Amino acid sequence: MKPKSFMTATGDEIVAQRCPHCGAALAKARRRAVVGRPLSECISCGGVVLRQGASEWALLGAAQRLDLVAHHALWALAVGVVALPVYFVTAKALERPWRPLNAAICLAAGIALAGGWMGSRLALTIRRSQRRMRDPMYLAKLVQHELADPRR
Ligand SMILES: [Zn+2]
Repeated sequence: MKPKSFMTATGDEIVAQRCPHCGAALAKARRRAVVGRPLSECISCGGVVLRQGASEWALLGAAQRLDLVAHHALWALAVGVVALPVYFVTAKALERPWRPLNAAICLAAGIALAGGWMGSRLALTIRRSQRRMRDPMYLAKLVQHELADPRR
């Protein structure tokens, strides 16, 4: 299995994934692609199994990285927009008229806060991934399972 399966694996394939060594159903089924260890161990037999949809940051292509960042940005936008109804409810509760400028400031602050939070979460995930990749033993294991290119 090559890293290009990162984004193409469908939900059905992931749910149906079984251990290639003993046939036990794998508990760690994921529907959404994540930055994480692409290898894990079967809880039943201890054999090394590939985690569908999980890959290290360094192994992702530009389009996959962009997709991940865009996904985080969209979430930040969606979470940030929640600040708007909060403002309206607060203005109503305080019996003060709502102003478009204040509403806009609330919206911008909400998006900035959510964006900062999502951004720092993604940055932390990437840093952890990069730390794992600096371990030559870990990298050798990925190369052994044809997940990483030894020339890179
Ligand atoms: Zn197994």
